[in-house]
Amino acid sequence: MKPHDHAAAFGTADGELRVGGMPLSRLAARVGSTPFFAYDRGLLDRRIDELRAAFPERLELSYAMKANPMPAIVQHLANRVDRIDVASGLELQAALDTTMRSERISFAGPGKSPAEIRQAVASGIIVELESRTEFDRVIAAGDELGLTPNVAIRVNPDFAVKGSGMRMGGGPQQFGIDAEQVPAVLRDYAAAGVNVLGFHVFAGSQNLAAAVIAEAQRRTVDLVSSLAEHLATPVRYLNLGGGFGIPYVEKDQPLELQLVADNLHDLVDGPVAERMPEATPVIELGRYLVGECGVYVTRVLDRKDSRGTTFLVVDGGMHHQLAASGNFGQAIRRNHPLVLGNHVGRPLTERATVVGCLCTPLDLLGDHVELPEAEIGDLVVIFQAGAYGLTASPTAFLGHPAPAEVIV
Ligand SMILES: *Cc1c(COP(=O)(O)O)cnc(C)c1O
Repeated sequence: MKPHDHAAAFGTADGELRVGGMPLSRLAARVGSTPFFAYDRGLLDRRIDELRAAFPERLELSYAMKANPMPAIVQHLANRVDRIDVASGLELQAALDTTMRSERISFAGPGKSPAEIRQAVASGIIVELESRTEFDRVIAAGDELGLTPNVAIRVNPDFAVKGSGMRMGGGPQQFGIDAEQVPAVLRDYAAAGVNVLGFHVFAGSQNLAAAVIAEAQRRTVDLVSSLAEHLATPVRYLNLGGGFGIPYVEKDQPLELQLVADNLHDLVDGPVAERMPEATPVIELGRYLVGECGVYVTRVLDRKDSRGTTFLVVDGGMHHQLAASGNFGQAIRRNHPLVLGNHVGRPLTERATVVGCLCTPLDLLGDHVELPEAEIGDLVVIFQAGAYGLTASPTAFLGHPAPAEVIV
């Protein structure tokens, strides 16, 4: 996808990008400072509507809030999705501050501390167990608090998902309990007084190949159906993971959602209904829900020519939006989509290299990108910035102030 396509999704008027309907220069004035992140509520809602329309009705949608834990985003989504998944004690507190009921919050991730597990058991959420140690800690917390913990087993599957940006299942993993160990674990802990609701399999992140995601979901349902025979109670919770990707660089094509959704209809109406009739199937998404609704807005501080290359130096950089600099899991650095947000329709008359304000060559936001001729004060906008932006970046590096975040 080209930068122009991303701009069209937000909308433009009088040569300006709009976010939440507001022209960018006015929004910048409203925010009062650059750089900043802005998230478009309408685009968030549109994404959820698309998913709801495509998915089976019985399938529940969970928001993996580590993708964007801004409280206003989490609050907004809490009213629109069915569940929230957290990955730390702090995220748990933020999720509990929303209207989401605690039994609809899950907590995944390796290395949950005894204190975090105690918080989780006290709040009544679903703890997704990654190891025997976590099982022991949950039991200890339940005994101490006089509560029956709710848990699900996170399973490291016996298959790997190819073509995913970040693989998190299959082979040796710090995530989950290996599928072949699960029967013994269930047997050993059968009398532990813990409410085992079901299973969770998360195979990887940033996957744009619908056929690969569909295959992983089929194999997950197969795997869980066979593990279910080792559980004393019916499976009530079936978290099929997610990992839906979004297009970052020009050659990326958007995920074919309908293909994934058709497969989910087959699974939910077929093997899930037949073999696990009491299970609530869940899809858990972070990046796909929020990534495309967000922009990172910076202002041009300097413009200089160096031996034939035009440099635009902006007031933001990789300390806020690490991924755009290629430092977050990209093998080859490619440009994330960017435009001059206050001159969207203008002809692209020059090639410029857009760099951030950090004193390192790594702070490169756009390498020889086609732009209209830019001046000091213009607004450079980076798209696809709604997920793994601010909280996934080294904000303390060089000690610049934190950017504002707004939802419009
Ligand atoms: C990170 C994570 C997610 C979210 O992944 P996305 O690729 O952002 O959708 C979902 N589930 C688990 C268990 C995770 O660790």
